[in-house]
Amino acid sequence: ATPTALMVGIGRGASLGILVKGQDALEASGRITTVVLDKTGTLTTGRMAVQRVTALAELSEDELLRLAASLEQGSEHPIARAILARTAEHPPALPPFSDFSALPGLGASGRVAGHDVLIGNARLLAERAVQIPAGARVALDHADEQGRTAVLVARDGEVVGVIDVADEIKADAQAAIDALHEQGLETILLTGDSAAAGQRTADQLGINVVLAEVLPAQKAEVVRDLQARGKNVAMVGDGINDAVALSAADLGLAIATGTDIALKAADIILVREDLMVVPDAIALARRTLRTIR
Ligand code: ADP
Ligand code: MG
Repeated sequence: ATPTALMVGIGRGASLGILVKGQDALEASGRITTVVLDKTGTLTTGRMAVQRVTALAELSEDELLRLAASLEQGSEHPIARAILARTAEHPPALPPFSDFSALPGLGASGRVAGHDVLIGNARLLAERAVQIPAGARVALDHADEQGRTAVLVARDGEVVGVIDVADEIKADAQAAIDALHEQGLETILLTGDSAAAGQRTADQLGINVVLAEVLPAQKAEVVRDLQARGKNVAMVGDGINDAVALSAADLGLAIATGTDIALKAADIILVREDLMVVPDAIALARRTLRTIR
């Protein structure tokens, strides 16, 4: 490979909003067969909004939201931001929280006004041996039907409500997925979210395969499994959860608005806002390699 042609490719990338960290990255891009995309924040805007609130036990909707929002003050997750935005309309100030723990891929735990509070998915509640009552199951099924993400709120070991959130698919996600398919690439959606929410996004975009309810620590394993099956994998992500998978992939592409740790782990940083930058990066690499051969 002539270094000059690769340098030209890197230069052209920069003008397209594609920051290639080295020549190896460009060579790897040319061989990609499969593109794995994170859902939240990559295919979707990551700006979630509360869609539905189901208060159970003796709580009112407002009490449920305030309990959840109080704990979510400790979290930077898009779900936490959605719940806080909803309660921002309801002063006075939220009760204080303490002993906060973020539980990656599961939710969060802590104490609010003398109570133990858990917020997260059914897997989190199962791990803590909290029963899911019939009223909560109905709410979860409804969220699944709508392709929304539902989080359960438990207080002192009792489920007190379900909060549905959703975000929107990015405007140009469809064009980007279509372009990847036109390049003969296989697409895979990878998410820690529910199977229903993952499937809905994949169906809307025509993505080939959905891998849902994947814990952050398992994301890299998924990439390695694909590689073991002979695939050359590009991984596109933005979050803390994606960093290990980005480094495990043959080519890691990070959305520039993502976390620092994702940017460090990536081979290519996508500076442009729109998702067309993903097929553009792979096309650029292929063109550059053709020039060399
Ligand atoms: P993704 O792979 O889509 O980025 P995450 O791994 O961040 O998803 O989260 C997976 C799931 O864990 C969420 O869908 C939600 O059910 C739960 N979860 C994580 N953090 C929180 C939180 N702060 N509040 C409520 N639920 C959470
Ligand atoms: Mg994410």
